[in-house]
Amino acid sequence: MIRGMQTSSSHLETRAVHGGMAGVRESGSHVPVIDFSTTNPLDSVETGGASYEELATGHDLGEGRSAVYQRLWQPGVARFEESLAGLEGTEGAVAFASGMAALAATLIATATAGRPHVVAVRPLYGGTDHVLASGLLGTEVTWADAAGVGAAIRPDTGLVIVETPANPTLELLDLRRIADAAGDVPLLVDNTFATPVLQRPVEHGATLVLHSATKYLGGHGDVMGGVVAGDQAWVERLRQVRALTGGLLHPMAAYLLHRGLRTLPLRVRAQQATAAELAQRLVAHPAIAKVHYPGLPGQDPAGLLGTQFDGPGSIIAIELAGGYDAAVRFTESCELITHAVSLGGVDSLVQHPASLTHRPVAGDAKPGAAVVRLSIGLEHVDDLTDDLMSALDAAAELGGLRPRSVRVHEAPDAAGAREREDSPAR
Ligand SMILES: *Cc1c(COP(=O)(O)O)cnc(C)c1O
Repeated sequence: MIRGMQTSSSHLETRAVHGGMAGVRESGSHVPVIDFSTTNPLDSVETGGASYEELATGHDLGEGRSAVYQRLWQPGVARFEESLAGLEGTEGAVAFASGMAALAATLIATATAGRPHVVAVRPLYGGTDHVLASGLLGTEVTWADAAGVGAAIRPDTGLVIVETPANPTLELLDLRRIADAAGDVPLLVDNTFATPVLQRPVEHGATLVLHSATKYLGGHGDVMGGVVAGDQAWVERLRQVRALTGGLLHPMAAYLLHRGLRTLPLRVRAQQATAAELAQRLVAHPAIAKVHYPGLPGQDPAGLLGTQFDGPGSIIAIELAGGYDAAVRFTESCELITHAVSLGGVDSLVQHPASLTHRPVAGDAKPGAAVVRLSIGLEHVDDLTDDLMSALDAAAELGGLRPRSVRVHEAPDAAGAREREDSPAR
């Protein structure tokens, strides 16, 4: 059995290394063996049937019981879940094929429990915004700002959803205040950006914690997954939804994510140290109108760093002084830093949220066209600085050609924009 490991009193770093490892040593192995079985032998008709019943209704695998079928229980997935729950400080966790599968299961559980109304605080991850706005999974959304959550709650509200630090603006939300405003309504916090190393939402009143494990938890850009951590009642409900809808994490992905957790504290802090240094080096550059990074002076007005957050993280958003054209030029001029969606891996990435991750977001909630998002990895800070400075110099050559308020859907394509560089319109 995976459960019962006495790691809850140890430090986060120790839990990250040893969580979900119960029974491994006793089995004669140093790391868990990956079990690819889709089905499992049954002892008898009676115990097989009883196991099926237990697992299909979301309960734990009983001592000495058969796991029956991979869609009901997978030992490597359970190890990853156990370890993640240990880091978040929750009773359990349920892992899925992706962050969106994890969110979908939560929304299905909410919509089918008789309270289908969701209050959501923007900005959110583009996919989250899209699935809520579309109502695809039977929920109905009311958008609120952090101060308006209480007023937006209705008798049929089944979930409040927030994300902090916000994507891509990196604003910090006071979770305790939002949890108080939510009252009895469960609060789900998307903790993908902060990770449990920098923020443990349940310590501040959250009920559920969601991760796109694809990002920091995996950390190497080679595995997709999602996970929701929460209390035992939610865990059982979500396992039931997973068993019936099949958004499963593959055993290989579970192994990689479980392994990823072991270096999570080290990676998160090293990436953060580099990001903090870079943010400071960037603020003075004339091509930049604003650097969004919670660790910079004035960007944590509520004083949440050091109380709710253990650090500002390793995502930086920069707003180019030259608007959309400069943002495009900057993004396409990075060389060491890869132009790609996603974040949280060992290598640095750059992307333009308004045209990529936040493309489906409604116009007034879409990030500005001048904003680019950087995910800082484990490269040397000086090499990243060189790459960023030369990309900024390339962007600065454009001057302040276009107003900063230009929206992506109104903006000309990049080639057209460059042609107009010499036009009388400047
Ligand atoms: C990527 C991401 C998601 C979606 O996760 P997938 O693993 O891509 O399905 C959700 N929330 C945040 C904050 C993300 O960055």
